[in-house]
Amino acid sequence: MYIMDYHHHTNHSFDSKAVMNEVCTEAIHRNINEICFTEHYSLNPLAPTYGHINLKHYIKDIEQCRAQFEGKLVIKAGIEICEPHLLKSEYQKVLEPLQLDFILGSVHNINDKKLRLYLQHKTVEEVYGGYFEELYNLVKHADIDVLAHIDLMKRYAIKVHGNYDFDQFKPQLKDILTKAIERNIGIEINTSGMRSSLAEPLPSQAVLKLYKELGGELLTVGSDSHKVETVGDHISEAIALAKECGFRYVFTYDKRQPSAISI
Ligand SMILES: [Zn+2]
Ligand SMILES: [Zn+2]
Repeated sequence: MYIMDYHHHTNHSFDSKAVMNEVCTEAIHRNINEICFTEHYSLNPLAPTYGHINLKHYIKDIEQCRAQFEGKLVIKAGIEICEPHLLKSEYQKVLEPLQLDFILGSVHNINDKKLRLYLQHKTVEEVYGGYFEELYNLVKHADIDVLAHIDLMKRYAIKVHGNYDFDQFKPQLKDILTKAIERNIGIEINTSGMRSSLAEPLPSQAVLKLYKELGGELLTVGSDSHKVETVGDHISEAIALAKECGFRYVFTYDKRQPSAISI
């Protein structure tokens, strides 16, 4: 089976110390065929990510790893943008010349507040509902390839509010997924939740099934790992889950063009 990890961070992200060529070495050791690095990026000075990455150094690092691991590992250059629906033209100006392979879009902040802070002193409806509303705005406007970790809010809200009730938020999720399909934006199975106490992927199986029911096809798999030792974690399980939900392909990207890989 062709194994890919389409969500990985290194020390080009503010919250990772992983060295890129060490991640690549470990990926090969774990029989991963393809990796796409997706470093955090924000143009909003109030976002924690702001100002960390040096895009020139990042691309240079990618090129060095491509040369070093040629024939052993396919290496793609991606990015994970915070709130790409805000500052859209600013992002476009910076990113277009880079000819990246893959762009993930994330809601990490709402009204300039980190999700962890946003959820304080709010009801469960406000916490999850507000998050999904922001995600809808993202998918409606942003120029991205794939929507990252759709139900990310549960990672932070679970301790305070518990996990969300799928049926309660199904109408909002349906709107998000329908808009994604309409705009040719994919979703990912993010396995980071499978190595935490959440013990489930982001999004949950119910959301994946809904996406499939609505006609969604574009699906990527990623570990969202920030460490060398967790590259590719639970990816085989994620692919098995995709199959179980009725998907026949997962996708890789090259210069933002998707290619289907049979599963
Ligand atoms: Zn991160
Ligand atoms: Zn990430």
